[in-house]
Amino acid sequence: MVMCARYDVVIVGGGHNGLVAAAYLGRAGHSVLVLEQAATAGGAAVSAQLFAGIDIRVSRYSYLVSLLPDRIVDDLGVRFRTRKRRISSYTPAGDTGLLVDNSSRAATRESFARITGSDREFAAWERFSAMTGEVARAVFPTLTEPLPTRDELRKRVGARQWAALFERPLGETIEEYFADDLVRGVVFTDALIGTFTHAHDPSLAQNRCFLYHVIGGGTGDWDVPVGGMGALTDALLACARSAGVEVLTGAEVVGVDTDGTTAQVRFVTDGAVSAAVDARYVLANAAPAELARLLGEPADTEPEGAQLKINMVLDRLPRLRDTGTDPQDAFAGTFHIAESYEQLDRAYREAATGRLPAAPPSEIYCHTLTDPSISGPDAPDTRHTLTLFGLHTPARLFADDPQAKNEIAVAATLAQLNTVLAEPVQDCLARDAHGAPCLDAATPVDLQRTLRLPGGHIFHGDLSFPYRSGPAETPAQRWGVDTAHRNILRCGAGTVRGGGVSGIGGHNAAMAVLEETAAQRPGNAR
Ligand SMILES: Cc1cc2nc3c(=O)[nH]c(=O)nc-3n(C[C@H](O)[C@H](O)[C@H](O)COP(=O)(O)OP(=O)(O)OC[C@H]3O[C@@H](n4cnc5c(N)ncnc54)[C@H](O)[C@@H]3O)c2cc1C
Repeated sequence: MVMCARYDVVIVGGGHNGLVAAAYLGRAGHSVLVLEQAATAGGAAVSAQLFAGIDIRVSRYSYLVSLLPDRIVDDLGVRFRTRKRRISSYTPAGDTGLLVDNSSRAATRESFARITGSDREFAAWERFSAMTGEVARAVFPTLTEPLPTRDELRKRVGARQWAALFERPLGETIEEYFADDLVRGVVFTDALIGTFTHAHDPSLAQNRCFLYHVIGGGTGDWDVPVGGMGALTDALLACARSAGVEVLTGAEVVGVDTDGTTAQVRFVTDGAVSAAVDARYVLANAAPAELARLLGEPADTEPEGAQLKINMVLDRLPRLRDTGTDPQDAFAGTFHIAESYEQLDRAYREAATGRLPAAPPSEIYCHTLTDPSISGPDAPDTRHTLTLFGLHTPARLFADDPQAKNEIAVAATLAQLNTVLAEPVQDCLARDAHGAPCLDAATPVDLQRTLRLPGGHIFHGDLSFPYRSGPAETPAQRWGVDTAHRNILRCGAGTVRGGGVSGIGGHNAAMAVLEETAAQRPGNAR
């Protein structure tokens, strides 16, 4: 129930970024209304009990946390924590595999030597990690500050590191550091999550994606959200509500009008009842292309997502072809399938010509090995979740017959997974209350429909380098959240430092509003 017809701030979309912005602004004394089209808040940061009779709350879309700054958690008093993974990654190689063990440098070194035949690649791995660590420590703290210029950021990062990650195609840097095809692939996958590109793309889309995957928390670690990703949304919702924010779900915004000072937001509830509210500021947690549609303006870009997400619940973890590695280790970290450098390149080229890759690359990981709290108390000890994120499956592959193409992509991806297992993963799937296997898959086309992600792009559009490329005349421009309209700001993944579960887009939009409203108070005029 909307309590009044005018708010200081109306937020379009109740994703985690919208909730972060709402909480900051509510705490600062602004009246805030959040309008969310889905039945629940959280956007892509939600958990769900996906399978009838199976008491496990699966992180339905996003599943690991790296980019959420402690500063936001502390400022808002968010009751949420993450847990470190014992294993960083496992990559099968024939009847053996490369295990990167966070708890043992010696074991990791031995694994590299076994797979690559010498100590060379492990030494390169350590040098490369040290370099990305330096970049992480320089860049991450800037993400919650006004945007630095390119020159300011380059000075902070250092010339050598800047050249390696910001200036030339990442493929050149990876090929300079590493010689082994498998190791190159393990490194390069971070450049492809949610980004359809290749190692030598001159647009540097791969470098931008890679950057956000190695700087989180100043370490680049990807941690497990305790209680699942929905626990973060629940905690943010509690913060926003306790700050006096009104959150209306089942409320689809259908239009936004503005004269630059006051905006009107039109929405429908439950697909039927129309309403409108006025606002001094509108923050768009929805993607920039969706905001353009609401304003009746052409979109700057038409994003295209390229991933396949498969959630599974298993009665037991499958046995591996590699009998020397315990499945409890292999699945505890990121488990790479068909992700050697050469395989990733071939899959990209096949998908770019409109074909599903013959060997679909993907990565999987098991949440319950690190955090069993998402399972109900009666779940058998052997029951586990398996989260699969498939690469190089752009929306265009599913356009003509989304359901049939979804099934074909799932079958091909599981068949590829089975090449490294000693038994088909299908034999390990739990059955729901109706006897159906516990497997749920979403293509970019599905995400466009359910989450309003344009083209199914998980970051609302390709990521940007975290520096300013335009003017800095308004607070919104300084924080990287501006639009063509002074009182309409971006506040989600589509902001300059947005993308991922970070809250940074929401934080930065709130800071821009607070800076502008503080400047407008009597006695504070510039
Ligand atoms: C399958 C998948 C896996 C991912 N894995 C990870 C991961 O492991 N780690 C990570 O950090 N990131 C991951 N991401 C990315 C991350 O989830 C997103 O970047 C992040 O959720 C963006 O948050 P947001 O609040 O900006 O936007 P969203 O989560 O997209 O929320 C936007 C909200 O706006 C609402 N909305 C849109 N249009 C309207 C409208 N007209 N009216 C009302 N409401 C509207 C939507 O319903 C949605 O709730 C993943 C994303 C996906 C899809």
